[in-house]
Amino acid sequence: MEMKKNKYIVLAIVLSFLILALPNISKSVVSSPSHRYHVSYAPILTVVSMPENVTPQFLGCRHTTNPDKNWVNGDPLEELTVNELSWGYNVVLALDEDAVAKWGIDYSVRAVERADESLVAQYYKDLRIREIVTYTSDNSIEWMNPDYAGGQPSLYDEAYNLFKNKFNEGTSIIIVVTGQETQDSYIAGLAPDFSIVGSNTMIMVRFQVYFVDDNLVQHEVSHCFGCLDHDETVDVWCVMAYKEELLYIDWVEEDGNWFGPYNSYVSRSYLFYHYCESCDVILKGSSGHGFGGNPMRLWPVPL
Ligand SMILES: [Zn+2]
Ligand SMILES: [Zn+2]
Repeated sequence: MEMKKNKYIVLAIVLSFLILALPNISKSVVSSPSHRYHVSYAPILTVVSMPENVTPQFLGCRHTTNPDKNWVNGDPLEELTVNELSWGYNVVLALDEDAVAKWGIDYSVRAVERADESLVAQYYKDLRIREIVTYTSDNSIEWMNPDYAGGQPSLYDEAYNLFKNKFNEGTSIIIVVTGQETQDSYIAGLAPDFSIVGSNTMIMVRFQVYFVDDNLVQHEVSHCFGCLDHDETVDVWCVMAYKEELLYIDWVEEDGNWFGPYNSYVSRSYLFYHYCESCDVILKGSSGHGFGGNPMRLWPVPL
């Protein structure tokens, strides 16, 4: 009898613990953090061995040169000092020391200026790099995306805190390039959800390969103008489309450079520059944001 009573006491204690724990369980489910950033995933590009004595065009090939490409003097770097339209969006381009070492300032400027060709040609949106800054990112930071960092420091938050004041100085969009590897290195790009140009539109990219990098920047910048991702199930060709295309022993040719041959699935967002109808409506409607003033060029700040 005494044993039974003890059993009931133990059972009651266990039950009361469970009951006490319940609100915490349900609360943690309810308050699971909503994602604040759009994520672009790094393409996994598997290069297949090149058969000997085969020139690229005899394997499959994809031509991904931007049809709206119209580089000033044949080099996108020239567009750093040239206004392609009478007005544009003021951009601050920031590179951490790892990005400077891996890709350099010129490559990064070219990637941004390659990224705005369709935006210029079709939507009169000219990205103007008004300032280039370099900074040293904290090597102990293990995450890029604040959504994944679980309260730990992230490269995005670090850069945002460093550069958010730029928005008070008339900056429309801040483009941060990081070369630092993190636990979430499978992320190639981040853009804020609920973007307001000139207010919170800082994007962060980690370059992948030349033919991808312009699309990557264009995709993230398009989020700043209100475009949303189309998930894999949406069968549209759009720079916002995650639907994947199989590159089957395909070379990729862009701007006269050959890449591959690849045997990989690649998101359409990395192969295409134009927009679907729904994005077209958004881009036409968002032209009033972030109106730029007179351009000025600031020289890169030394490390
Ligand atoms: Zn996206
Ligand atoms: Zn679209």
